[in-house]
Amino acid sequence: MDYDVKGNLRHVLADLPEGVRLVAISKYHPNEYIEAAYAEGQRIFGESHEQELRQKVETLPKDIEWHFIGHLQTNKVKYIAPYISMIQAVDSLKLLKEIDKQAAKNDRVIKVLLELHIAEEETKYGLTLDACRQLLKEGEWRQLEHVQICGLMMMASFVEDESQIRSEMMLAKNFFEEVKRDYFAADDAFCERSWGMSHDYPIAVECGSTMVRVGTTIFGPRVY
Ligand SMILES: *Cc1c(COP(=O)(O)O)cnc(C)c1O
Repeated sequence: MDYDVKGNLRHVLADLPEGVRLVAISKYHPNEYIEAAYAEGQRIFGESHEQELRQKVETLPKDIEWHFIGHLQTNKVKYIAPYISMIQAVDSLKLLKEIDKQAAKNDRVIKVLLELHIAEEETKYGLTLDACRQLLKEGEWRQLEHVQICGLMMMASFVEDESQIRSEMMLAKNFFEEVKRDYFAADDAFCERSWGMSHDYPIAVECGSTMVRVGTTIFGPRVY
């Protein structure tokens, strides 16, 4: 292994205050990298491709908590529904309903986050704040008994300008508070704010993140 996964992991963990969890983003990295992080005690890993995830799930320890962090097509939900711990990037009611349906078939409740589109980049997925408000207001999600909405997820713009990153994350934080107040005030499970990646997780921690998703800083550059 040409990368000091264990040392890098320890560094990232040392930066995280209590109450902020690390999702180690292992997409495109081999099992031995994940095993190194696992040996250090890391148990939450994030992947963004269904087939790659399936192969890893089959061969890696069973007590790993897998989070799906990428864009998820509705026709793929059935494959991950039996085992996925959290689906982080739900950006439509259609996807939410499909997750509910597949979770029901597996007799389980799947935790999800709603993905916000706040970054300026066109290519990013996610719900605009208004689309998210609309989805929650319409209320159909309340009937879905096999999904549990645990919070919000977002990616800030990939820019150098820290003040831009900070203002996007603060927008997400304030929006979280709005949604919490309006829809989830009595629901303790709605508590997660998933923002912060390798280049911006220290800012995310300052902006109320409860869950950072860090890949490159731990595992090195991805080979696609
Ligand atoms: C790949 C990915 C990450 C991790 O990015 P790094 O820059 O490698 O830390 C985090 N979140 C999402 C949604 C990703 O797709």
